Amino acid sequence: MIYLDHAATTPVHPEVAAVVQDVMSNCFGNPSTLHAIGREARGLLDKARQQVADLICARPEEIFFTSGGTEADFLALWGVVSSRKGRGSHIITSSIEHHAVLNNCAYLAELFDCRVTYLPVDGAGMVDPDDVRRAIERETALISIMHANNEVGTIEPVEEIAAIAREEGIPFHVDAVQTVGHLPIDVNRLGVDLLSLSGHKFYGPKGVGALYVRQGTPFTAVLRGGGQERGYRSGTENIPGIAGLGQAADIARRDLEEETQRLQRLRDALIQGIEERIPGARLNGHRTRRLPHNVNFSFPDVEGESLVLGLDLQGIAVSSGSACSSGTGEPSHVLRSLGLPESYLNGAVRMTLGRANTEEDVPVVIEALEGLVRKLGRLFSA
Ligand code: PLP
Repeated sequence: MIYLDHAATTPVHPEVAAVVQDVMSNCFGNPSTLHAIGREARGLLDKARQQVADLICARPEEIFFTSGGTEADFLALWGVVSSRKGRGSHIITSSIEHHAVLNNCAYLAELFDCRVTYLPVDGAGMVDPDDVRRAIERETALISIMHANNEVGTIEPVEEIAAIAREEGIPFHVDAVQTVGHLPIDVNRLGVDLLSLSGHKFYGPKGVGALYVRQGTPFTAVLRGGGQERGYRSGTENIPGIAGLGQAADIARRDLEEETQRLQRLRDALIQGIEERIPGARLNGHRTRRLPHNVNFSFPDVEGESLVLGLDLQGIAVSSGSACSSGTGEPSHVLRSLGLPESYLNGAVRMTLGRANTEEDVPVVIEALEGLVRKLGRLFSA
């Protein structure tokens, strides 16, 4: 099997699995308890908080563990809007965000006095920082723009947007679920106030993630209970998962530079091969401001899902659009926002590389894809 769906999820790194198993078997304590068994769990929690903080150059007290990227996005949006205590709110986001952001914005707008501006993107999937500036209003409570898009891999100009947000005194949230562990991240250099990350996107366990909240950011707890995570996120902590997340963060920090360069070479070889061999192939997303492991192509008049199934039969796992939107039969909201011609909208395939992929995979994938596109596409049927 050639696995090319690392943006959907990554396999758990063996060093992470070992930590999770060890903690699950040997450390069952509740970190809120005072005895030695509880203190041991507290020690693991503190260690993981430091490891995650180190990965994004934050302070440990600014890291709040969650059940993953979706919950981190939820807490960011709801936490900031709730802090306005009923005053009207306005959120600026983009039309290509993950549904964890889009659907929570829509829900906030439904329940509260909250309006949302969805900024358009250009043909490569980039948000224009000037559009952000123009959209700011007196009631703007939050700007939420993703670091890189999960479908087309475009890296957004978050530093520029952060500078605008800072100038205007507006909190800035970045969904970095696709970049943490894949690109070097320094929350201070980026200038962000809130940042979401998720373990299973960088070889950690599923169902665990974190929200970074810069000290001083207006934020009200919305998940209330026993007051864990300094009140920001109640609930007894998932210690094995959190310890695994910490280990994944350490591994990412250790290997990031080398692995990123290796994946970038594979990515570029795949892009070049597809463009040379398959006429009509259209690269989706930005050519250079792009995640090191993302390849996304559309083929005219070919069904992306047929390509996914055809490749699967040949032992190659890819995705059409994102995992969440594939299977719905609807063209992805991201590709629509990029303004793709209708004939290309349904024929997108996303291939996302990872640790197990090698140079040998590249020609195999190109060959299989070319064969399928020729077979399925009207382009070649004459
Ligand atoms: N945000 C982005 C950009 C994602 O790609 C994903 C997952 O695909 C999420 C949020 C949700 O993360 P999780 O699966 O950990 O809930």
